[in-house]
Amino acid sequence: MYDLVVVGAGPAGSTVALVANRLGLKVLVVDRLQPPREKPCGGGLTPRTWKLLERLGVEYPVYGACKTIETRAAGYKYVLRKEPILVTRRPDFDYALLKQSGVDFVKDQVVSVNGNTVVGKSGEYQGRVIIGADGATSTVARSIGIANYKGHRTHAIAYMTIAKGPPSDNCVIDFDVVINATKRVGYAWVFPLGEGANIGAGVGWGAWIDMRRLVIDYAEKAGYKAGNVLGHPLSLGHVAGVGNRNVLLAGEAAGLVDATTGEGIYYAVSTGAAAAVAAYAALKIYGKERHAFGIYREMIRPYVEEIKKSRLLSRMAKTLGTRRWVAKLLGRRLLNLYTKVYTGEATYSLLLKPVERL
Ligand SMILES: Cc1cc2nc3c(=O)[nH]c(=O)nc-3n(C[C@H](O)[C@H](O)[C@H](O)COP(=O)(O)OP(=O)(O)OC[C@H]3O[C@@H](n4cnc5c(N)ncnc54)[C@H](O)[C@@H]3O)c2cc1C
Repeated sequence: MYDLVVVGAGPAGSTVALVANRLGLKVLVVDRLQPPREKPCGGGLTPRTWKLLERLGVEYPVYGACKTIETRAAGYKYVLRKEPILVTRRPDFDYALLKQSGVDFVKDQVVSVNGNTVVGKSGEYQGRVIIGADGATSTVARSIGIANYKGHRTHAIAYMTIAKGPPSDNCVIDFDVVINATKRVGYAWVFPLGEGANIGAGVGWGAWIDMRRLVIDYAEKAGYKAGNVLGHPLSLGHVAGVGNRNVLLAGEAAGLVDATTGEGIYYAVSTGAAAAVAAYAALKIYGKERHAFGIYREMIRPYVEEIKKSRLLSRMAKTLGTRRWVAKLLGRRLLNLYTKVYTGEATYSLLLKPVERL
């Protein structure tokens, strides 16, 4: 029997494996795909993410860095110069983390979890603690009765492509192109990747336009040639639960994505590390795997609170975000505040204090 069976080899699962292995736990990672595998993503690592990875002492490839961040909203253009957003490619990034964990890996599609048993299509895997790090539509969460994924009620859809084109050190975040095309709040991005860029767009459900076409046309307009366009659901910060007893949900399986920016890697890595520590404490300090959930829930409470606040803000943006006067009045101020969040200088809880007092 393993100490930990981790379902999913994304940033959440690989971080669990990495930290748990360093703590001396015996770990198995199960993923339905053989790494390195693609995961549709912008590959943007915000300053708080790369600083966290630095503290964990992991190495990974970086293909681009944005010295400036250009945001376009309601006809206005704002350029910020802050600490860089680093741009990686997810197949390489996720694989680098998994390899550095040095744990056992099995390719299998998990269908359910029952007590200490993870049931896959090809076999069964025993673990004292089970970690569901299986992303947006988590089978593990569903299997333990937690509805973090409820289709369009909890998730947006986002598309991306790796495009060929000129090098750049400017990240573009463009609300206008998505709002004008869909009449809904969402944004497109251009994140430079050496010779080319990761280009994509995300929007809430119900925007009945061809988002693949939008990405291809947007890339072309920006001077790039789009490759394959891939789509994936993206949690809008709906957190119904983060586990129970000996089963812990980490990263997007727990719904932990910033609902206003779509940033998920930071929460995947931080809650992955917390899950490993909680499992260690339950197994090695208390000697009881069922304590894992209580410890974990307390450890990640601040992240869950942050995500809930981001959801509140995204709802406000849904009502106000398409109004030109809002962009004119608040645009630069809002962007500066957001930047403080993703650089780690501030939290949503701090930013929303004045709103809560109303
Ligand atoms: C288009 C798009 C762009 C994005 N851009 C950014 C960005 O620029 N920056 C950012 O921070 N975030 C971004 N995000 C969000 C980010 O990609 C996710 O939040 C992040 O990948 C979550 O990591 P995770 O490890 O929790 O899950 P995932 O990365 O989704 O990994 C889950 C793993 O579980 C495996 N799996 C799933 N089901 C099973 C099963 N039943 N059995 C076995 N294995 C299974 C999958 O194969 C996968 O390897 C973006 C998302 C999308 C869709």
